[in-house]
Amino acid sequence: MAEKTQAELLREQLFYEPKNAYDKLSEADIEAAEAFSKGYKAFLDEAKMEREAVSFAVKLLEEKGFVPHEPGKKYRPGERIYYNNRGKALCAAVIGSRPLEKGVRILASHIDSPRVDLKPRPLYEEAGLGYFKTHYYGGIKKYQWGALPLSLHGVIALRDGTQVTVRLGEEADEPVFCITDLLPHLAAEQVKRPLAQGLKGEELNILIGSRPFKDDKASEKVKLAILKLLFDKYGITEADFLSAELCGLPAGSARDVGFDCSLIGAYGHDDRVCAYTSLMGALQVENPEVTWVVVFADKEEVGSEGNTGLHSSFLKYFIYDLAEAAGVSGRAVLSHSQCLSADVNAAFDPTFADVYEKRNSCFINYGVVITKYTGSRGKSGTNDASAEFMGKVRSILDDADVLWQTGELGKVDIGGGGTVAMYVSALDVDTVDIGVPVLSMHAPFEVVSKMDVYCTYKAFEAFCRASGK
Ligand code: MN
Ligand code: MN
Repeated sequence: MAEKTQAELLREQLFYEPKNAYDKLSEADIEAAEAFSKGYKAFLDEAKMEREAVSFAVKLLEEKGFVPHEPGKKYRPGERIYYNNRGKALCAAVIGSRPLEKGVRILASHIDSPRVDLKPRPLYEEAGLGYFKTHYYGGIKKYQWGALPLSLHGVIALRDGTQVTVRLGEEADEPVFCITDLLPHLAAEQVKRPLAQGLKGEELNILIGSRPFKDDKASEKVKLAILKLLFDKYGITEADFLSAELCGLPAGSARDVGFDCSLIGAYGHDDRVCAYTSLMGALQVENPEVTWVVVFADKEEVGSEGNTGLHSSFLKYFIYDLAEAAGVSGRAVLSHSQCLSADVNAAFDPTFADVYEKRNSCFINYGVVITKYTGSRGKSGTNDASAEFMGKVRSILDDADVLWQTGELGKVDIGGGGTVAMYVSALDVDTVDIGVPVLSMHAPFEVVSKMDVYCTYKAFEAFCRASGK
């Protein structure tokens, strides 16, 4: 082999070039990524909405010896606790050996994804067909939700205090539902609408049946027949929809994508991919030096509002409880804490290259993506991590040999977005966004790479394992 020229040596020393995982990682890593992706796909299928993700996590945590958090109880290093916030959000922690007032390490992801929620009075009949009226949740391109098999997920709270769990349309022998779209033959006017109105909000009506109740005299016989079926199956009447949270989700399982099966396609990678990788990564660290806290938040897709979203106080109260029991101030703990806001970024898509600034985009297969800031316009509505904390995270990942890249959410002034980062940093916690690059984000079928998922898992493990010195 010819000796390297001075320019080549200098390039190696001075240039920064992100690397493709398939060039950088070993065969053993590639196999480990494939194995990890199997568990992730099972999680995607079982935990399609926030309540299901919390149930999945609680079951796993209890198997691993975690117990419900008791405010006021003093914990020793190595103890494992969780707090289930109303079945829709979660904190889990393992107490570290370092004194709590020196801070904790937080991994905060969200487990809600864009979808179509049922309205409080959803059920109606029109022209012999039964429908649910919906109100979409989060940022969707509404036209993508027509002519697609949908499943129904959620809960119905009954007047007697009991709760009915609904999950229908995921198994092969179960029916699915769908929003109908107009045939092209009659869509001459519809196709001239702006894309945002391809299907309008009030056109997102879910078809749920057509067989009328057998009775010549009654009216709304299809609606009546559907209500009879619902009563027989779930014990509910029409009024019970008022105290329900039901949503239509894309039906079906996560699938490998590509001849090489290198990618995973599924509904709701954003942000269950970071929820799963953060929990699995943290669980690798059984006796941490620094207390780790994994947070699953709800409501991120609608601005983190509500008492299960991170704009509320549930994370702060959880940390304050730990601090109080340890006899230190909650403020001291938070001010010395660090957080990885675990959320996805938009992977460079060559089909739509003009919305990305290529030098500052993240790429599929280039590893976990660190996003210094999100927001829009002049960095409005963002956390914008400090140089110091970026440097800290960078050195943790490099020391653990984790493949990472950086990314910005599209070109300047082309759009933007936000994450939970600004709500955690508002607690005086050093915070930066980090997660998995995603193609077709917020579509009913999003795509991620198995290597990126694996690198993200490794990054979260490294963060929880890192020394607190
Ligand atoms: Mn997200
Ligand atoms: Mn999102």
